[in-house]
Amino acid sequence: MSKTMAINAGSSSLKWKLYEMPEEETLASGIVERIGLNNSVFTIKYNNGNKYEDVLDINDHEVAVELLLQKLIELKVIENLDEIEGVGHRVVAGGEIFSESALIDDEVIEQIDSIIKLAPLHNLANLTGIKAFKNVLPDITSVAVFDTSFHQTMPAVNFMYSLPYEYYEKYDARKYGAHGTSHQFVSERAAEMLGKPLDELKIITLHLGNGASITAVENGVSIDTSMGFTPLAGVTMGTRTGDIDASLIPYLMEKLDLTDVQDMIDIFNHQSGLKGLSGVSSDMRDLEAAEAEGNERAELALRIFEDRVRNYVGQYIVKMEGVDALVFTAGIGENAPETRANIIKNLEFMGIKLDEEKNNVRGEERVISTDDSTAKILLIPTDEEVMIARDVERLKK
Ligand code: ADP
Repeated sequence: MSKTMAINAGSSSLKWKLYEMPEEETLASGIVERIGLNNSVFTIKYNNGNKYEDVLDINDHEVAVELLLQKLIELKVIENLDEIEGVGHRVVAGGEIFSESALIDDEVIEQIDSIIKLAPLHNLANLTGIKAFKNVLPDITSVAVFDTSFHQTMPAVNFMYSLPYEYYEKYDARKYGAHGTSHQFVSERAAEMLGKPLDELKIITLHLGNGASITAVENGVSIDTSMGFTPLAGVTMGTRTGDIDASLIPYLMEKLDLTDVQDMIDIFNHQSGLKGLSGVSSDMRDLEAAEAEGNERAELALRIFEDRVRNYVGQYIVKMEGVDALVFTAGIGENAPETRANIIKNLEFMGIKLDEEKNNVRGEERVISTDDSTAKILLIPTDEEVMIARDVERLKK
């Protein structure tokens, strides 16, 4: 028995979960927000339902880690620091270097540093978290789990952009995808639910959250995914455009009087998608409410979201020459029955059918297709943190 932490560090936040392994029991979880700003918010959920919250100034991630560990002892979640044997860090971009999770040493830190250009904000923040834990708990097993690793199995025909070839060779310009940990988790779980070997299945995993991506998992490996060089590509998302024509960049920059291309990319990342289309919100619940009140732009935004997701489902069925299971996961995938139904309805001509009654559920693992459906449709709540903890456990031995 040992305790393992799963960490997701952002530029001003640190999200964490503490597990008893190998039982995978959650002992505590929490988040530190506004690190480096005034009035940082420090929250811990522990002992099944207790909550500790504090607002104080936390200058950097290392202070956040020290404070967190000290509080875990004070709250008696742990007795001393020796109980924590491992820590796993989510790292957004692993480039072509990391096709698997890695034990963190100086070389791995340098390698993550060398691909910061692939996700400047995210990888830098992830590295800050890694270094903070290294400084406070230098002797425990430390593992990096990459969002992109699962997609490193994609063949060149699917990961290459139709650009001059040397841009790939010289500048690493290619599709990397994201949400890999989630796509892997739900595809493995789907095989278990179907009682079939994963390496004999054609699965389409739909991770539909604020960020959304669709993956074709053939015989257990990712062969294509909707996100691209960065998580901006693919389907319409909460605030991101998904796929658009690059010619819009100079055109809109001129119209909007922008001189810095980063400002345009910021609009594509933060002001677009469901939020930009609807003018209401990026949040699916708000859009559903607005649609019910007759808001036409909210309705249009929802139909566009469903359409773009459906496009990828269609592509991947053709690519894999069939599909055994479609898996819905993440905030929208787990909680929005209507959206699921609208995405799936065009597949009825292939005999893929949703059971209306079974589909009327939120956040619960189950089969939601009819008994005679030619492919199973599954709802599987994702758990990226437990995948991180499992990798720490696996690499520790
Ligand atoms: P993130 O990418 O931030 O992790 P999540 O996976 O938490 O996102 O998904 C957030 C999305 O899930 C939001 O659009 C939210 O509205 C949607 N969502 C959460 N609960 C519900 C619900 N009960 N009904 C409809 N949508 C929901």
